[in-house]
Amino acid sequence: MAIRQIRLYPDEILRKRSREVEKIDPKIIELLGDMLDTMYEQNGVGLSAVQVGVLKRVVVIDIYDGNPPLKLINPVILKTKGNQECEEGCLSFPNQYAKVNRPEYVTFEALDETGKKITIKAKGLLAQAICHELDHLDGKLFVDIMEPGTLEYVNPNKPKDENN
Ligand code: ZN
Repeated sequence: MAIRQIRLYPDEILRKRSREVEKIDPKIIELLGDMLDTMYEQNGVGLSAVQVGVLKRVVVIDIYDGNPPLKLINPVILKTKGNQECEEGCLSFPNQYAKVNRPEYVTFEALDETGKKITIKAKGLLAQAICHELDHLDGKLFVDIMEPGTLEYVNPNKPKDENN
């Protein structure tokens, strides 16, 4: 597995729609592994394939709750409920955060890396992450839906409590 280069805004690939995966072949398995390595290297919660320059509907998510990471192929949201105001960032926008409204509960389905269909009921951070990553697959970014005026740059070299 390998670290891939993350495409940064305003790279125009981030505005393109990703295509469905038709066959889960060794290249897709390798892509999933590389995406996890790349996400962990950046301490990210989620990463979509477009962010490493591949226009396929492939997403990885880990909310660090002790469960194994999610490797999702062709994910689709089936149902949403509620609302949560989130502080959100994106690996394609280093050190930038904004307030975004997301559903609090999201039911989604996807194929796992063996091609099995999985359905997951998510809430909180996982619901936020799945919405964020699915937006990427349609060329949509969190800055498109943020509350106006809430985008902040956080200096990564400062201790966290000085960033408030
Ligand atoms: Zn993102």
